Amino acid sequence: SNDDHHIHIDIVMFPFMAHGHLIPFLALANHIHHHTGFTIAIANTPLNIQYLRRQNSPPWIHLLELPYNSSDHGLPPNTEHTEDLPLDQIGKLVISTVSLKTPFHNLLLDMVRKQGQPPLCIISDLFFGWVVDVAKSVNTVNITFATGCAYGFLAYVSFWLNLPHLKTDGEEFDLPGFPDSKFHVSQLHEFMRKADGNDSWSRFFQPQISCCLQSFGWLCNTVEEIEPLGLDLLRKYTKFPVWQIGPLLPKQLLNKSPLSATEQRVAKSPGISPQKCVQWLDMHGVDSVLYISFGSQNTISPSHMMELAIGLEKSMKPFIWVIRPPLGFSLKAEFRSEWLPQGFEDRMYRTNRGLLVKNWAPQLEILSHASTGAFLNHCGWNSTMESLSQGVKIIGWPMAAEQAFNSKMLVEEMGVAVELTRGIQRCISSDEVKEVIEMVMDKEGKGGDMKRRAEKIAEHIRAAVKNEGNEKGSSIKALDDFVSAIKTRK
Ligand code: UDP
Repeated sequence: SNDDHHIHIDIVMFPFMAHGHLIPFLALANHIHHHTGFTIAIANTPLNIQYLRRQNSPPWIHLLELPYNSSDHGLPPNTEHTEDLPLDQIGKLVISTVSLKTPFHNLLLDMVRKQGQPPLCIISDLFFGWVVDVAKSVNTVNITFATGCAYGFLAYVSFWLNLPHLKTDGEEFDLPGFPDSKFHVSQLHEFMRKADGNDSWSRFFQPQISCCLQSFGWLCNTVEEIEPLGLDLLRKYTKFPVWQIGPLLPKQLLNKSPLSATEQRVAKSPGISPQKCVQWLDMHGVDSVLYISFGSQNTISPSHMMELAIGLEKSMKPFIWVIRPPLGFSLKAEFRSEWLPQGFEDRMYRTNRGLLVKNWAPQLEILSHASTGAFLNHCGWNSTMESLSQGVKIIGWPMAAEQAFNSKMLVEEMGVAVELTRGIQRCISSDEVKEVIEMVMDKEGKGGDMKRRAEKIAEHIRAAVKNEGNEKGSSIKALDDFVSAIKTRK
């Protein structure tokens, strides 16, 4: 807690307050601690700290509270996490984080005074570029932790820093840093499409990201062998060290051991127990089930939801679908049967064809089950790594942030994904859904090729974190390099 006078903190971490950031930051804290024995502190706003405390965070993680009041930023009272807010207010939460600079600085000054020296480094989120200055002022260094992949994060960074984008050919455009690729406007989320350097998003991201490029280096949740191109491009662009220390995954996914207490997920309670999910999966054949989920905060439009349901039914493939109220409704709204075809849930349930899970699923248990063959998802990087670590191929439906860039890399570079659609701009038909599902779930042909590639990637992912005697995987070596770099500041 904040009153541990005698505790010496080696590393301070500062994640953005969303599941997709908190989960990999906690995993990074665990990973670094187990490798080095360092004591780690996580700083955040009061409600997020309370929340982390309830998650049984391990004793060597110290939780540091920063004063913050959401009402001061035009947000509803007690809303400090993306989860507490509708999509259109998340921007305000993001922008309000700049106000944490002074309290964070004070907290560090206090820490330096108590322990007589600064922490070895501060590891902060891509959204918090201002930490670079704070770190300098207390004589330490800032490391930016890119919670995504190298390719997707580079594209995201380059997008914001090089506005406005000249459309070179129709709706295609170039991004500095990617000499051999074209990007397409449909890969941009609505607010990115409107960004011109003067809107509130650009005014937030441009200074934060430029500051992150003044960091001492970046940590990236990826693996050298699975992302050689993305890492090469990112290193050329930033010209500083990028330590690829991924995958940051619970051991449960790496060696099938049960989840340990220190690996508790920062998550909500699932809409179904893990045991029930596993029982349901046990009834189905190897690689036969399609798992569908769009991450922690996305949902789809009512018409997309309807076409997806009809397409699933037509495909005749078993599925688990994490289902939420569609766009236009509060995510906490009571579920309405009219959102789905008449009798759909009943029919699927009775025939064991489909399992609908409300809001939140035990994703790790599902992905690590042998019956799960493919994952229809939004290409959020955590879900992607979780899926690939199990050799589960992907049907992409990118929605926001850098997800469409991840999807592009998964399709073009890794060959483990097929993209069904992007965002909410285009209508999809149930026949399209059925065709893509059939093609990907097929054990022969293209589906078979994807599966073989996904399994190869899974091998690389496991090998990267191997650490037995002299045998060190690439990510363990990168972690050693990172540790010696922050110790020597060279
Ligand atoms: N997740 C989960 N159950 C769900 C939805 C999400 O456990 O029903 C977890 C998932 O395993 C992943 C994280 O939430 O670790 C989502 O992160 P990701 O980067 O995939 O997407 P984001 O939520 O940031 O869009």
